[in-house]
Amino acid sequence: MNQTDNSLPAATTDYIVVGAGSAGCVLANRLSENGKYHVTLLEAGGSDRRFWIKLPIGYGKTYFDERVNWKYTTEKNTALNGRCSYWPRGKVLGGSSSINAMVYVRGAQRDFDDWANHGNPGWDYQSVVPYFAKSVDSDFDHESDKAANLGRGPLKVSRTDSQVHPLCQTWLQAAQEHGFNVTDDFNGGAMEGTGIYAITTRNGVRESTAAAYLDPARKRKNLQIITHALAQKIEFDGVRARGVTYTRQGSSQTLVAKREVILSAGAINSPQLLELSGIGATDVLQGAGVQTVMINKNVGEHLQDHIGINYYYRTRVPTLNDALYPWYGKLREGLKYILTRRGHLSLSVNQAGGFVRTSDSMQHPNMQLYFNPISYTTSPADKRPLMNPDPWSGLLLSFQPCRPSSRGRLHIKSPDVSVAPSIEPNYLATNEDVADVLAGCHLMRELAATPSLAAVIEKETHPGPDMTSDEELLDDFRNRGDTVFHPCGTCAMGPDAGTSVVDSKLKVHGIEGLRVADASIFPNITSGNTNAPTIMVGEKASDLILESARDTPAH
Ligand SMILES: Cc1cc2nc3c(=O)[nH]c(=O)nc-3n(C[C@H](O)[C@H](O)[C@H](O)COP(=O)(O)OP(=O)(O)OC[C@H]3O[C@@H](n4cnc5c(N)ncnc54)[C@H](O)[C@@H]3O)c2cc1C
Repeated sequence: MNQTDNSLPAATTDYIVVGAGSAGCVLANRLSENGKYHVTLLEAGGSDRRFWIKLPIGYGKTYFDERVNWKYTTEKNTALNGRCSYWPRGKVLGGSSSINAMVYVRGAQRDFDDWANHGNPGWDYQSVVPYFAKSVDSDFDHESDKAANLGRGPLKVSRTDSQVHPLCQTWLQAAQEHGFNVTDDFNGGAMEGTGIYAITTRNGVRESTAAAYLDPARKRKNLQIITHALAQKIEFDGVRARGVTYTRQGSSQTLVAKREVILSAGAINSPQLLELSGIGATDVLQGAGVQTVMINKNVGEHLQDHIGINYYYRTRVPTLNDALYPWYGKLREGLKYILTRRGHLSLSVNQAGGFVRTSDSMQHPNMQLYFNPISYTTSPADKRPLMNPDPWSGLLLSFQPCRPSSRGRLHIKSPDVSVAPSIEPNYLATNEDVADVLAGCHLMRELAATPSLAAVIEKETHPGPDMTSDEELLDDFRNRGDTVFHPCGTCAMGPDAGTSVVDSKLKVHGIEGLRVADASIFPNITSGNTNAPTIMVGEKASDLILESARDTPAH
């Protein structure tokens, strides 16, 4: 009874995990690890054994590939001059960790301390470090991880310092000229500073959670992985989750969970599934024609995301564009990759960056920076993949405010799981967020004007030197700024049903046998990229579930 696509699904199992993404793969591995429990993992997408998933730079290809991507579109954003945002999400084993940009950042200490301060004991930074430590096999030597004394975890985190483009050093020099310090490691405790990003790759191959956590567990007899299984709704006996109904190959079946159902379908689909199953606000459920199981007005609310923008520059010196645009450059890099698993194709395009304060009066970094020694376009209107950068020498400077205070929402419009929910990110809804964006725009210009960068930059192409006033820069942001793909918070963790969806054990308030474990439970967005903290959530959730299994018999 193991994991192949063609195996017959069991009618009952101990744990049903819905969604094989960043968190779901962790849960499937950890819950089946001791051999005592039968675990079934339902994933709407298919196998991750695809060239463009394994090849790190291939995420430029999967960005629009509907075979592995849900390809969501938001409602019109008023603050983005009425534009809709394109939101890629992984629909494949590994979920979004199979299509993301691989930057590994845990987050700031205060991010998690704030989680605990929201009424979530056990989620402060000191308490979550052991779960970060447990998850990684890192090239870095974090003191905090050594203290946890857990040995090597499944997820390879690689240093890239020796391989990144030489212009990264120019950018780091520029950052120092601006007054920012340089750090060797964003994940060892203090994240402030600029440096080279660590990425989730192993020997030059993408390290998704499917590669790190599922592949080693595939042969376990007590783990069943069912791909192309689209969960439709959770079934209940009163307020106890009994199982999950899903469709596969045109037929619908119900799988019964003797212990628990765990939703790990991500920040869009976990709240969608709760609402489809009757847990949500009365008006949302009634509007979609879904029968109420439990009223909770927080489902789908508190949506948070990072929003950022690229500043484009033509350069006087060669960049990755020169290495990857010509056919002979692609051939050379392709051969290098095949022979050595190294080179530009083995890396993310987000090579350097950091966490900085845009004002000395601030106590914490408020801005994440990215330096890409390449320029390219990713708008849906111009589907030019990253493997085809601009045909001239160019680079990108980018930023995203760390902790936006705007909150959006997403809700179902129909009782049919295949109808995408309505997503309203509500970007730039607060004065603080607008101020942060403006500070970021000015910072791009200041960095570009440092002696080191000014020496290599020929001209700014977007937004262009004519735009200088706050009004013009803000309007440019409203025209071009967009998601950095970190939605979270839509099944937020908190002390009660009046303010949140799950408690600090990740149990859905008022419901038995049902937890949510993925980026949707973040009470507040972390200051950096969201894959690492989501994997941490998967690790901690697994511990919480196994702990309660020790005291609770199966139903
Ligand atoms: C293009 C892109 C670039 C990114 N870059 C970075 C980066 O560089 N660094 C970083 O840290 N983060 C990055 N992120 C964000 C990060 O990858 C996500 O925050 C993280 O993967 C979220 O994990 P999750 O477990 O919450 O959801 P996901 O990983 O999205 O997993 C959800 C899973 O549930 C499945 N599912 C959904 N609905 C159903 C259903 N009804 N039935 C069955 N299965 C279902 C999905 O198919 C998916 O496999 C990026 C994301 C994207 C999209």
